[in-house]
Amino acid sequence: MPLPTFRTVQEMRDQVAAWRLDGLRVGVVFTMGNLHEGHIALVEAALKKTDRVITTIFVNPTQFGEGEDLDSYPRTHEKDTDMVAAAGGHAMFVPSVSEMYPEGFSTRVIVDGLTDVLCGAARPGHFDGVAQIVTKLLNQAQADETFFGEKDWQQLAVVKRLARDLDIPTVINGVPIVRDDYGLALSSRNGYLSEEEIEIARKLNVILKKAAYDIGTGGFTADACEKAAEAILKAGFEKVDYVECRDADTLELVEKSEGRSCRIFGAAHLGRARLIDNHLVN
Ligand code: AMP
Repeated sequence: MPLPTFRTVQEMRDQVAAWRLDGLRVGVVFTMGNLHEGHIALVEAALKKTDRVITTIFVNPTQFGEGEDLDSYPRTHEKDTDMVAAAGGHAMFVPSVSEMYPEGFSTRVIVDGLTDVLCGAARPGHFDGVAQIVTKLLNQAQADETFFGEKDWQQLAVVKRLARDLDIPTVINGVPIVRDDYGLALSSRNGYLSEEEIEIARKLNVILKKAAYDIGTGGFTADACEKAAEAILKAGFEKVDYVECRDADTLELVEKSEGRSCRIFGAAHLGRARLIDNHLVN
């Protein structure tokens, strides 16, 4: 049986209310579509913690900057729905842009501080768009739990902060990064890469992992590791946005890990793709 696809907020809310009346707990997973195993891991995590799982597909225009790939972002709804159905998901929410941003829409959601660094610095305005759409989706679904990938660690930190600050009751869960056999973090944008570029892309994970180890064992300062990693990345990637070791929660720069929970973050451009990844430093 094809999965039910809700196109309006009201349709989704009616279904969530009916499930709640039956005593069922509801999970929701937000995506921009063109699904891969990384997204499916979120659906599987949601199925473990809740009784009914809704997967959202919405390519949110407000989180794309000028010159970014909003128009060419792959839209593969049928294949995506089949993948979610095969994983055991219960429904899709695929709203139109006008359903999400009706005429006269004028509210913004700004999360200060956390959004000034890393991808926030490299993509001005990106996290304002993310915070806006995630706040809307959380309110629309009113789910018990939601699931975000740790690949987008900063996004996860921003979402946790806004849910706490705005008293949104949905529990925010992080799900570990899903990688290919060579360690490359799966991403919808990997489809932009040629075979040769994929080979280069795989270095991002390797280099960050080595830097995480070197910082974690205390043999090198974060600054030295960041500089070394960036230099190696520059040899293959066209542009490196950042390689930085930061506190996992506050995203403050860290020089020595010293028992704190830190991660090393990297972002670099290759062909049409901008790739991001991060590793735990321990
Ligand atoms: P996107 O469709 O790229 O906006 O991603 C939707 C959700 O899937 C976000 O929470 C991402 O962090 C998560 N996600 C994307 N790629 C991966 C991956 N390789 N492993 C785990 N989660 C992922």
